[in-house]
Amino acid sequence: KTYFITFIIITRLISIIGEPRPWTNTLPSEILSLDLSTRLRVDPDAIRTASKDFGNLVHIIPSAVLYPSSITDIVDLVKFSFNSTVPFSIAARGHGHSARGQAMADRGVVVDMAALKNHGDGGGIRVSWSRALGFYADVGGEQLWIDVLGSTLEHGLAPVSWTDYLYLTVGGTLSNGGISGQTFRYGPQIRNVFEMDVITGTGEFVTCSKHLNSELFFAVLGGLGQFGIITRARIVLDKAPNKVKWVRMLYSGFSVFTRDQEKLISTTGLDYVEGSLIVHQSSLNNWRSSFFSVSDHSRIVSLLSKHGIIYCLEVVKYYDHPNKDTVDEELELLLKGLRFLPGFMFKKEASFVDFLNRVRSGELKLQSKGLWDVPHPWLNLFVPKSGIQYFNKAVFVDIIQRQNRTSGPMLVYPTNRKEWDDRMSAVIPDEDTFYCVGFLHSGGFNNWEVLEDQNNEILQVCDKAGIKAKQYLPHYRTKEDWVNHFGPKWTTFEERKAKFDPKMILSPGQDIFSSV
Ligand code: FAD
Repeated sequence: KTYFITFIIITRLISIIGEPRPWTNTLPSEILSLDLSTRLRVDPDAIRTASKDFGNLVHIIPSAVLYPSSITDIVDLVKFSFNSTVPFSIAARGHGHSARGQAMADRGVVVDMAALKNHGDGGGIRVSWSRALGFYADVGGEQLWIDVLGSTLEHGLAPVSWTDYLYLTVGGTLSNGGISGQTFRYGPQIRNVFEMDVITGTGEFVTCSKHLNSELFFAVLGGLGQFGIITRARIVLDKAPNKVKWVRMLYSGFSVFTRDQEKLISTTGLDYVEGSLIVHQSSLNNWRSSFFSVSDHSRIVSLLSKHGIIYCLEVVKYYDHPNKDTVDEELELLLKGLRFLPGFMFKKEASFVDFLNRVRSGELKLQSKGLWDVPHPWLNLFVPKSGIQYFNKAVFVDIIQRQNRTSGPMLVYPTNRKEWDDRMSAVIPDEDTFYCVGFLHSGGFNNWEVLEDQNNEILQVCDKAGIKAKQYLPHYRTKEDWVNHFGPKWTTFEERKAKFDPKMILSPGQDIFSSV
């Protein structure tokens, strides 16, 4: 019995202390003298979680994972690395929904931002009003957009710019852009931020805005986590509607489809404009949203057999009780003259929340079947308007439709450059209108490379045709590719890195700079 009790005590002690202590090999041992060291974990569960992401394509092992109990913990960690003779890398991990290890840190420390939420010392979500700004929410970088929605709705308010999926963190999407069907009208999420608190790569805690420390502000927005860790963002809010009218229209011709999309984004009547490809039956309803009723299926399937590829234009108009009687008329006016296939307009009503959170039910279904954690070799591109017709022929028709390898939603919708701010780090094509194109593939564990080959083929098609497409959520392996991606913004990007993260500590998983 004594032997058994001793065994239990030793195993418990090992699990508390953490069996191997890899940091002693790869991190400076003085880290153990920091107050935060009790919040560093090296146990298999923590390491496993921090070394995988939604993409499930790469697995990079950190030395330890910090579960911060306060913003000071993160400041101390970054300062400690910065002041070490051999600095180590640090990656903020939002919700780990990157596809290619962007939130991982090889032999460094991953900061699990969600821990701030549990300790209540994150930014939380606080709604306020000022004469200068109107309504806004101060939101912790670790917060999920679904929670931002819930909290702001309690005040009858909501952010104006969204992503299609809400289980992403504020820090994660602001590091990229944050785009969806609302972007044409309200700009990306990075355009709807008044102010941020950021911990730079030197461990300095800085409040920044367009007017205060503006260089850091613009660097961080779309900055791929390279300049600082966002701990608070002040987000633009507007009055939230109750309901939405949601319409899908089907097209067999791409040029008519895009002409109608472009017409719709040139006015502000609608609140959301997107589009997608239907190339096989499974793309009718998928995890991104199930819309068509079973009775519509057979009609659409015969259309698909006839044309081989169908384009689906999707729009939404928000409304409230006071304008519920006029919204149908308004919508009719907005959609008047569109040249979709007669008889192929489908309408739906939904609550504002159900519309915004439309991806969740598909996710839960896939999760219950174990199909959410499969490899996701996604490719997202911004394609300039001048190249989109050729892109349709060479990519959607010649590669996607003919090769028939793709599984997963494929998105194509235009947006307006004027709603973006060129001072930010985000990179977009140099044309007034460009298309957001997403190949949201799900692959098998043994065959996802086939989809990756297809992605490369698509990129080569653009290169050969001289289409100056830009990757969104970019991923490159060589410095030359990064320089090419940033184009004229590269020099500024590099200078800002030297200023705000001179030892190149932050977000190493983006693979842009490497020093530590
Ligand atoms: P993570 O993957 O955890 O981190 C992403 C990067 O940001 C990493 O480099 C990380 O180090 C850095 N980072 C994280 N937190 C911070 C912080 N607080 N401060 C500074 N840097 C930080 N994107 C869209 O724009 N529109 C969409 O509609 C959309 N839909 C998606 C749907 C799904 C199902 C998935 C998986 C992704 C989707 N995305 C979409 C992409 C998504 O916006 C990005 O992958 C985003 O980075 C994920 O957020 P995250 O919180 O999981 O970030």
